Amino acid sequence: MARQLKCPRCGTLNDKENTVKDNGRYYCPHCHEEKLKDDALRKLTKSYKKCDKCGKEFKKDDMVQVGSKYRCESCQKIQEKINDDRSELYDYICQLYETDVLHPLILKQMEEYKTQRKYKYKGMLLALRYFYETLGNTTENSKGIGIIPWVYEDAKQNYINMKNANKSLNEIEGDLVEEQIVAIEVPQTIDFEKMELINIDEL
Ligand SMILES: [Zn+2]
Ligand SMILES: [Zn+2]
Repeated sequence: MARQLKCPRCGTLNDKENTVKDNGRYYCPHCHEEKLKDDALRKLTKSYKKCDKCGKEFKKDDMVQVGSKYRCESCQKIQEKINDDRSELYDYICQLYETDVLHPLILKQMEEYKTQRKYKYKGMLLALRYFYETLGNTTENSKGIGIIPWVYEDAKQNYINMKNANKSLNEIEGDLVEEQIVAIEVPQTIDFEKMELINIDEL
């Protein structure tokens, strides 16, 4: 009697000559085909990862690993831009107040404006530059960046006007890209009650 071998996939006993050997195990031919399909699928899903920002799946090789997570190229670019914008804003406020390190309350303001008001770092920088450079104010009577919500709309309008005034055909393409990046989202209603300037005594 021929030696019978148990298929690791379905458990059927087969004569050895009716099996397919794979990695030291003996499969029914159709079970082996299924196994190969499974292996391929497993390999494929292993090489695809979900982006931690947009949630879409991409080839792992095309992604950037961030800690234990993976990020797609375009989300990574956006993140880098945000990081750049944040440090630009950070540096600008440092310059304003002639300091190397920003007070935690200012950082808190920055993050609040970003998450609650949906301001962009780039937009906050524009607002500050507008207030201190365009309007020529000084930091004499201020300590934080509480002025931002008060001038945000004006700064935005001023920026758009300036852009339009300087626009040339050559600039249009770059302009559109830039416009997307600096597109400023302003909440429909602004709560003026909550919008107190930072009190010097609190710092
Ligand atoms: Zn089988
Ligand atoms: Zn992504």
